Amino acid sequence: MKYYSGIDLGGTKIYSIVINENGEILSRNKQKVGDNKDVNKILEIINDSYKLSIENAGLKENDIFAIGMAVPSAVNIEKGLLLNAPNLGWKNIEMAELLSKMTHKKVFIDNDVNLGTYGEYCNGIEKKFNHLYGIFAGTGIGGGYIQNGEIIRGAGSTAGEIGHIIVKYKGPKCNCGNRGCLEAIAGKVGIMKYIQKKVDKEGKTTTLEIISPNWRNSIGSSALRKAIEANDTLVKKAIKRSAQFIGIAIANIINSIGVEAIILGGGLIEELGDIYMPIIESNMKKYSIAGGALPVKLIQSTLGDDAVAFGAAMIVTKKETEKYLIISKEALE
Ligand SMILES: [Zn+2]
Repeated sequence: MKYYSGIDLGGTKIYSIVINENGEILSRNKQKVGDNKDVNKILEIINDSYKLSIENAGLKENDIFAIGMAVPSAVNIEKGLLLNAPNLGWKNIEMAELLSKMTHKKVFIDNDVNLGTYGEYCNGIEKKFNHLYGIFAGTGIGGGYIQNGEIIRGAGSTAGEIGHIIVKYKGPKCNCGNRGCLEAIAGKVGIMKYIQKKVDKEGKTTTLEIISPNWRNSIGSSALRKAIEANDTLVKKAIKRSAQFIGIAIANIINSIGVEAIILGGGLIEELGDIYMPIIESNMKKYSIAGGALPVKLIQSTLGDDAVAFGAAMIVTKKETEKYLIISKEALE
């Protein structure tokens, strides 16, 4: 039996799993990332999480065939190069080589939402759909595009950056530097900016002042759920707006590339899926041309926290990925 490690490097946590060659998850480990965003410091935490997940699975490091790692960045997969992770402040880092050096394993790295979509695809959907798009909405919004089992990355490795398609000309400023990106409106950061603007400039009130007093700096999706349950009209309006824009973005995807299914995940969808999904669906249908959305299945993610790490581990089980495995000098010894 062969075993594989999947690692999800997020902005706030590192999540590692171990799977066997049948795609069964044997163990999980979660480690928090502190405020220190130094590459070597974070690599150490990754290494700890990786080792603990192997231990939890009752295995030895020697049992692991290869590591797949997901990073919040566009990635040059041939070179194992992390191109630009704005949330970590990292650019052009040879992440696969560094991790291979540390673990003495073969390493493959890719964008986190590409791998999250791939994880969902490998979790039963692959039997039903050949052509699907994944959208993960949390603090930001990311996308992944899969055709016949292959992740489509585009010539510049940026395909699937759905969070940065512009849905409102001269709209709110985005972390990427542009204005009116989907993420800047419909991601959690965009939602909170909208609520803040309504409170500060139009004198609107929100129950978030009580539910989550620090809401202006940071907020969990569960606090938004509580506000909606408390009948907070401002939060309700902000979530509706977010869902409408995601629906419009999906109509744009359908109008341009015509997928068979859209899979939605991420913190906002996990927590508020019952509110998001119907609004997304009606807008996706309204704005796609000539009934193009009618045969498109809209699916909510079922893997939750596992999706990205599972996709990272699954992709290194595939023969097609072998040519992209980065092997450091240390790993060959
Ligand atoms: Zn942007």
